[in-house]
Amino acid sequence: MKKEIAVIGLGRFGGSIVMELSEMDVDVLVIDTDEARVNEYQDYYSEGVIGDSTDEAMLKSLGIKNYDNVIVAIGDNIQSSILTTLILKDLGVKKVTTKAQNSYHGRVLEKIGADTVVHPERDMGRRIAHRLVSSSVVEYLEVSNHHSIIEFTSSAKFENKRINDLNMRKKFGISIIAIKRDNDLIVSPDPNISILSGDILILIGSDEQLNHFENYMDKL
Ligand code: ATP
Repeated sequence: MKKEIAVIGLGRFGGSIVMELSEMDVDVLVIDTDEARVNEYQDYYSEGVIGDSTDEAMLKSLGIKNYDNVIVAIGDNIQSSILTTLILKDLGVKKVTTKAQNSYHGRVLEKIGADTVVHPERDMGRRIAHRLVSSSVVEYLEVSNHHSIIEFTSSAKFENKRINDLNMRKKFGISIIAIKRDNDLIVSPDPNISILSGDILILIGSDEQLNHFENYMDKL
């Protein structure tokens, strides 16, 4: 059976999710108060509804409870975003993912039972900041409030050294969880493996430890 996903709010974020889902084998329901938005994306969904997601009876009549995942991508209207999330959880939707406009909005969403809260603007800002500050950081991914994963282009200083010899855990408190080499991904690399030119190291650590490492490497 096809997965059924509902996207509420067709701003840039909700719209791009809908376009991406349309490429996958998924039944997509979209809901937006704005008819023009619903029309704009008509090639990308199976069912489109012009309506207000704070209307509980409307959500019920759409059988929203049976959807595998509902994404609340309402932007500026924080009140509607919170109310919609609350109604969806009350109606028994198993997985509700809601976009937060700021950290207070995010905290409220967590308290009222949103299963996943996403902060796309904040996360993208952080990722870009890391890439700007360190020329070697090619990707940055937050995994908790205090821990992240970075992809780091290995420096000449690392070449032909074994992971063991780099002593990253002891020196910086961070671990190499994988190495991207050509088109391969070496997961949980053996400590005896040597780093080669062009390797991209995937590192995990606390934000503080990773910052310390990035600064140290940039100054070398
Ligand atoms: P993005 O950055 O993703 O573009 P945004 O902050 O610009 O987000 P908005 O335009 O504020 O997003 O809202 C996204 C969409 O949500 C809009 O198309 C708007 O019509 C729709 N929307 C707002 N409130 C509701 C609601 N209660 N029910 C359904 N759709 C809603």
